[in-house]
Amino acid sequence: MIPTLRRRELLTLGLAGLGAALLKPSNPARSSNRGLRVIVVGSGLAGLAAARQLQQQGHQVTVLEGRDRLGGRTWTSRAWPDLPMDLGAGWIHGTSGNPITALARSSGAQLVDTSLENALVYGADGKPLSASQEQQLDRLDRRLVAAVAQAQEQEGPDLSLQGLVARTFGWDRLSNDDRQRLRYLVNNRYEQEYGAGALALSSRWLDMDGAYGGGEALLVPGFSAIVEALAQGLTILSGQRVQEVIWGGPSAAAGGSGGVTVVCQTGPGGEPRRFEADKLVLTVPLGVLKAGSIQFNPPLPAAKQTAIQRLGMGTLNKCCLRFARPFWPTDVDWLGQIDPGPGDWMEWVSLAKPLNQPVLIGFHAGASAVALEALNDAAVVASAMASLRRLYGPGIPEPIGVQISRWHADPFSGGAYSFNALGSTPADRQVLAKPLAQRLFFAGEASHPNLFGTVHGAYLSGLRAAAEL
Ligand SMILES: Cc1cc2nc3c(=O)[nH]c(=O)nc-3n(C[C@H](O)[C@H](O)[C@H](O)COP(=O)(O)OP(=O)(O)OC[C@H]3O[C@@H](n4cnc5c(N)ncnc54)[C@H](O)[C@@H]3O)c2cc1C
Repeated sequence: MIPTLRRRELLTLGLAGLGAALLKPSNPARSSNRGLRVIVVGSGLAGLAAARQLQQQGHQVTVLEGRDRLGGRTWTSRAWPDLPMDLGAGWIHGTSGNPITALARSSGAQLVDTSLENALVYGADGKPLSASQEQQLDRLDRRLVAAVAQAQEQEGPDLSLQGLVARTFGWDRLSNDDRQRLRYLVNNRYEQEYGAGALALSSRWLDMDGAYGGGEALLVPGFSAIVEALAQGLTILSGQRVQEVIWGGPSAAAGGSGGVTVVCQTGPGGEPRRFEADKLVLTVPLGVLKAGSIQFNPPLPAAKQTAIQRLGMGTLNKCCLRFARPFWPTDVDWLGQIDPGPGDWMEWVSLAKPLNQPVLIGFHAGASAVALEALNDAAVVASAMASLRRLYGPGIPEPIGVQISRWHADPFSGGAYSFNALGSTPADRQVLAKPLAQRLFFAGEASHPNLFGTVHGAYLSGLRAAAEL
């Protein structure tokens, strides 16, 4: 997710201390209780949290990871050796009481705040908004927020966000300027946050997620600092792509093994490898479950399949452009633009202020992100640079380095994070999270009732699954 001003401040969950507690050495040999054999599928924050917790309780835990790297949708790229870049999660959203803050601190990672309020917004003419234009935008924004809040109070069928905007503002009667402003606000406020277009988003269940208070912090060494700390002392086998989960045999009481068998593909042309365990914690992303690339034997119950189908998997991509020196104002964190065109590049974050680096990260979300993924790097950069030239003139230099994420096409994620799609309800997340036959447990950001789409939601879901087990 990208930072947002609109998330409701949540309760302090009282779990912040858990972050630090979980960084205690995790050494199974130190436990006298050999416990159960547990397989955890996935080495993202959900999988690592579950695995550490279970290992500390004395279970024999093996983590199976399909990729050749750990961390899942937290991915710190080292393509620029002097500048770690997070191509997945970038911010600790709300540092107060957030267990990820505690983890970051105990792993020694330096945090730097950015502020959404420290933003410069450009109009469709490519010039910074004047004070009166800003007020106009604010007024429209308040109407948009009020319309969403009202939609949530009303009975009757749910409406897509696009449907709600069309109904509230009378789209056909709006001036071209107002349409451009509204497109910007919808993108900035909702589409970028949930990684989904307004047509796909439920207006009833929009903005129902919780949030911690405090700042929005970047990790200077990247999220890998947390992943590496959490992974210490765990048995993790990478390159093990789970293809099949066999979970339905007779229980131990009925004379069966009562356990699970996991079949993995270990690389192109590799022999399938089988792993047996008493219990399984599955933390693969919703996008992987939707793609049906893991076969369940017996199949998952119909209710769980329906929940998987109904919840949305959004896409948010980052296009990181490194320049020799900045050509944009370096005292702001965010650059927004009311784009007269298709609106692919409405949101940029600048690393000049927080990290003293001449880097701009452009975000695109939803269907536009999926469409851009199909282009090669040169075409994506050409599109991004055309947009920046509108703001800073034709003479700006080409980037000296480029890194671009493609989360939708990635078979190990199938998107960036889950969202409440039109047709889904919060109950779908509970169904998704529900254990089966006391041997198949589910975690991952999508299974968190109200902190989905975040690193902390993923982490807490892992702890929840470990507690259930
Ligand atoms: C571009 C982007 C920006 C984001 N920004 C933020 C942010 O700023 N702040 C924030 O809090 N959150 C952010 N998020 C969301 C956050 O990254 C995720 O919610 C969180 O990391 C999900 O963790 P997880 O453990 O649920 O899943 P994952 O991290 O996806 O872990 C699942 C693991 O399962 C593995 N796997 C998948 N299929 C198989 C298989 N068949 N066999 C074996 N292994 C498999 C995957 O390789 C992966 O390692 C962002 C995400 C993206 C993509």
